[in-house]
Amino acid sequence: NSVFLGNRFESTTAAKVEASDPPAEEFAYQAEVSRLMDLIVHSLYSNKEVFLRELVSNASDALDKLRFLGVTQPEMLKDGVDLDIRIKTDPENGIITIADTGIGMTRQELVDCLGTIAQSGTAKFLKSVKESQEAGADNNLIGQFGVGFYSAFLVSERVVVATKSPKSDKQYVWEGVADSGSYKIREENDPAKMLARGTCLTLYLKRDDKGFAHTERIQKLVKNYSQFVSFPIYTWKEKG
Ligand code: ADP
Ligand code: MG
Repeated sequence: NSVFLGNRFESTTAAKVEASDPPAEEFAYQAEVSRLMDLIVHSLYSNKEVFLRELVSNASDALDKLRFLGVTQPEMLKDGVDLDIRIKTDPENGIITIADTGIGMTRQELVDCLGTIAQSGTAKFLKSVKESQEAGADNNLIGQFGVGFYSAFLVSERVVVATKSPKSDKQYVWEGVADSGSYKIREENDPAKMLARGTCLTLYLKRDDKGFAHTERIQKLVKNYSQFVSFPIYTWKEKG
C-alpha cells in the first residue's frame, strides 16, 4: 500500500450551480439504530480501531458491486475513474476521509442503508448485548460482531457521507452526529465537492481519538486489518 501524494478527487461531471442550496431534510433513525448508536457512542470498548476495518470493508464491497454490475451494464463505469480506496488524514484538525469509487448510494439507498438496520449481524449483536447485559457481562461484543457503518461513531463525533451513484446524476450528503436521534440528508450543489462516482466519508474525530488521524497509524491499521482487500488502498496526509 503506497503513499498517494496527489489530489485526484476532481469531478468529471459538470455540476449545475443553484442559486441557493435546497434545505437539508431531517430523518429519525429506526429505533434499533438509535439503540445501536447509543451503545457505540457510550461503550467503553477499547478496541476502537476496528472502525477502519469496517469502513474499508464497506468501500471494498461498494467497489465489488460496481465491478460486478459493470460486466452487464458497462454504462455504470462511464465515469472512467479507477476502482480504488483513498484515505486522507488531517492530523491538525483530527479529520479522516475515506473515499471509494464504488457503487455509491442514491438518496433512497442512503435512507435505507444508513438509517435502518437490514443487516442480520447487527440484529444478532443487539440481541447478544441484551443477553450479556442481563448476565452482567461487558461489551466486548462490538469487535466480535462488527457493527458496520455505525462503528464510525466509535471514534467520531460527526460523520459526513458524500455519495454519488452512477444510477443518479445527483450527489447527496448524509450527516450524523453522535448522541442525536436523527440524521440529515441534502443534495450537494457545490461544484468543487462533486465526486465522479462513489462515496467519501469524512470522520470528525472525538477529542480523545484525534490520534487516529495520522497516516502512519492508518497505514498500520490497513496492514493489520485490511490486507486482503483486492483494491488498491492509498493513504496520504493532507497537511500538518
Ligand atoms: P453491511 O456492510 O454488513 O451491509 P454496514 O452497516 O457496514 O453493513 O453498511 C450498511 C449498508 O450501507 C451497506 O450494505 C451498503 O449498502 C451501504 N454502504 C455503506 N458504506 C458504503 C459505501 N462506501 N458505498 C456504498 N454503500 C455503502
Ligand atoms: Mg459493512
